[in-house]
Amino acid sequence: MRTERSEQLYSRACAVIPGGVNSPVRAFTGVGGTPRFMVRGEGAEIIDVDGNRYIDLVGSWGPLILGHDHPEVREAAQRALAQGSTFGAPVEDEVRLAELIVELVPSVERVRLTSSGTEAAMTAVRVARGATGRSKIIKFVGHYHGHSDALLAAAGSGVATLGLPGSPGVTEGAVADTVLVPWNDREALAEAVAAHADDLAAILCEPVPANMNLVPADDGPDGTGFLQLLREHADRTGAVLIFDEVISGFRVAPGGAQQLTGVLPDLTVMGKIVGGGFPLAALGGRATLLDQLAPVGGVYQAGTLSGNPVAVAAGHATLRLLTPDVYATLERSTERLVEGLTSAFAAAGLTAVVPRVATLAGVVFAERAPRDKDDIDAADHERYGRFFHAMLDRGVYLAPAGYEVLFTSLALDAGHLERIAEAAAAAAGDVADG
Ligand SMILES: *Cc1c(COP(=O)(O)O)cnc(C)c1O
Repeated sequence: MRTERSEQLYSRACAVIPGGVNSPVRAFTGVGGTPRFMVRGEGAEIIDVDGNRYIDLVGSWGPLILGHDHPEVREAAQRALAQGSTFGAPVEDEVRLAELIVELVPSVERVRLTSSGTEAAMTAVRVARGATGRSKIIKFVGHYHGHSDALLAAAGSGVATLGLPGSPGVTEGAVADTVLVPWNDREALAEAVAAHADDLAAILCEPVPANMNLVPADDGPDGTGFLQLLREHADRTGAVLIFDEVISGFRVAPGGAQQLTGVLPDLTVMGKIVGGGFPLAALGGRATLLDQLAPVGGVYQAGTLSGNPVAVAAGHATLRLLTPDVYATLERSTERLVEGLTSAFAAAGLTAVVPRVATLAGVVFAERAPRDKDDIDAADHERYGRFFHAMLDRGVYLAPAGYEVLFTSLALDAGHLERIAEAAAAAAGDVADG
């Protein structure tokens, strides 16, 4: 596989862009080697500057559930763009998108659009604090909620890949009200809630954690799911329950993890799929909470390009296509992907678990199913790096870090899934041979 042009671009990029990338997860820090520069996406495939073609299991880290360059999404964006790129005044499509989100996501009555998931999560915390008059938030170790100061503590995704203990530039004051609890740890949760009950503004989680690989919530010994437990703690203390569904929203079900599990949050953070591949995210929730936001309430939040007409059109076109049968198809593809990987690892004698939650999956080189971030930290990341490169060499593009998940799309067909299974069998053999 030729990579000269990617290498040339990467060295030019490193001279003018920190690490050559505009978001750290795009660098190959976790797996070694040179990031591939892409020129085009077609359905389930991406093509790099050297002309190499890959089956894409990253999908721009989640947004591209329909695959690359979906004609209806492209046409909706082009139609909007032809009318003007931005007005700084409301447009009809914002209303249509908000109406559709309210229809799809069970707990959502009102929606405020933002440009990134980071902003939406930051706003969720501000609304919770504004509404409760309290300060503390409980956040789970390894969950990622964007890169705002208070939420970077023990964050997953790139923060975990780079092994950062915290981020320089974030003051102690900024994280003083962030209380960290290990995921699936009922005792630690109960202690944290008890210690801060009177000042607890919010409990925040990814209901399907997908930024420390894939670590689902426990069903628990007494049958009370961990998510249900969060709901109960929030109700008992008067804290706001926030689900960050930036990945799980519109991905594990049309109405996200809350529809899948039946546990309803008070606030929902959305992103990725909701923007159809454009910079758009959203905060949704109960009317009484969302109406804390200016201009109705006093909690300030704003954005020059929030609800951008081109992004809104692409997001609306995407959500409109996400009918229930789409999820059945996507779930079957994800199952086949998991089967292919599982049998490849078994045939090669590689110890691995391939967790799946509905339409999300992961690859963890460990002996048992992970329950928290410590389990993911202890997995064999060096082996993941070798498997990643063995797959890349065979034209399958996985996330370049063992802290991320596999994203399937509706553009994956039986042929793609077969090619992935064949590549995995050969790649697992390579890795086992050292
Ligand atoms: C990607 C992500 C974010 C941040 O969204 P950006 O648009 O990258 O700011 C927040 N939460 C979760 C769960 C994410 O996966």
